[in-house]
Order: sequence, then C-alpha cells, then structure tokens
Amino acid sequence: AANAAALELRGVSARYGPSVVLRDVDLSVRPGETVALLGPNGAGKTTLLRSAAGLPVGVSGSVYLGGSDVTRARSHRRSRAGLCLVPEGRAIFPNLTVAENIRLHGRSGREAAERVFEAFPILAERRSQRAGLMSGGQQQMLALARCLTTDPQVVLLDEVSMGLAPRIVDEIFDALQLLARSGVAILLVEQYVGKALAMADRVYVLDRGRISWTGTPSETSEDDLMNRYLSVD
Ligand code: ATP
Repeated sequence: AANAAALELRGVSARYGPSVVLRDVDLSVRPGETVALLGPNGAGKTTLLRSAAGLPVGVSGSVYLGGSDVTRARSHRRSRAGLCLVPEGRAIFPNLTVAENIRLHGRSGREAAERVFEAFPILAERRSQRAGLMSGGQQQMLALARCLTTDPQVVLLDEVSMGLAPRIVDEIFDALQLLARSGVAILLVEQYVGKALAMADRVYVLDRGRISWTGTPSETSEDDLMNRYLSVD
C-alpha cells in the first residue's frame, strides 16, 4: 500500500490483567514523520509503545505496519517487518563490548554495523570497550545504534533523553532527525515537552489511557500543553 502509514493503531485498548491502561487509541505515523507522544506519568505511553511492538500486554483493536495487519504478530515478527523499539533505561548488555552489543542485535551483519559506527563515531572509538563502562548518554546511543542495524522503517523511542546531559540529548535528536529525513517513521515518548515540540511534526497527548489532544506543534505551545493536559492533579 503506497499511501499506508508506516505505523497505525486503530481502536487499540490494552490491559494488564484486569486493569485497562489504554482505551480506544487511534494513532498513526507516516514514513519520514516524527510524532511525539506526551502525557503525565502513568498515562499509558510505554504501554502504547509495547502494544505497537507486540510485547506482552492484552491488546484489542488493530495494529498495522506499512499497511499490513500485524495485530496477531509477535514482537520478533514485527521487528522483522521493520519495527524497532528503544526501551526506557538503555537495555544494553553491560558486560559485552560495544561491538558485541551491536552484532547481537543486527540482522544485516558487518556492513550494517559499520554504517552505524560511521553515524556514531563515539561508539566506533569504543567498540572494544565493555558497554557498561560508557556514560549513560553513550549507552543510550548504543541502544539506538543497535536498533538502527536492523534497517527499521519504524522506530519507537521511550524517553531516550531521560537523565542525559543536554549536549548528548541534542546529538541523539540530531541523529533522529537524519533518520526521519531518510524516510523512517519515528514515534517518541518524551518528558521534555519543549524538546518534543521542537522535534515533532505532530503530537499526541495521552491522558489516563485516552488520546486527549492531537495536532501539530504550531497549533499549541509548551505552556498550553502543560496547563491543559500535562499538569499533575
Ligand atoms: P511513565 O511516564 O510513568 O513511564 P507511562 O505513561 O509510560 O508512564 P505506562 O508505563 O504505560 O505509563 O503505565 C500505565 C499504567 O499501567 C500505570 O498505571 C502502570 O502502573 C500500569 N502498568 C504498567 N506496566 C504494568 C504491568 N506490567 N502490570 C500491571 N500494570 C502495569
């Protein structure tokens, strides 16, 4: 399907056992588009990413990747179909080297690894170092780099900027912008609303499991979002 969204959720609800966390969510990301997902703590942002990625959570509704219905597909099949999730908290293997972390994850072998090292020179410099000895920012880059070795069409990022120095955050967001320009669809959960508005083509706000607002950054502002949607009551 030529005009298909890279990722689309239609009427998605999600629950952990009896507790319903997402309710009837519609969301789409087109190829090359950067979409920010905002919302207060516990709103269901991580659960939405997990639902898209096919990770364990009880989902009803439909999930499409590039126009194909993947609702019944498990996470590894969605990953083969071009979806990649960079989870919160830098899920890397600290005792393996940088190169081993990348080789473990990538499907496309040495060539893909070399491309990633070109894009992230810091990782290339440290390829033989144990990943756990790098700074938090570098570990976060590694988590992103590892995802990129799979040549994804859709990249989901869960609070990648959390706890990182502003300079590192800028570097990561620059890398994401390049990625979007190459046609990859990006959906990012972000705590820094200003940053998200600067990056994103479109924004969704989640509130207690429902989409409470969606639009473009030009239709809102950080203050507006903070006051109307993101204040903790
Ligand atoms: P945060 O910003 O705090 O990460 P979030 O918007 O990402 O929040 P989720 O992590 O999706 O929210 O959590 C939504 C709700 O689901 C919360 O009330 C949380 O306690 C609950 N929840 C999350 N994971 C599980 C789980 N594995 N089992 C049961 N409940 C869960």
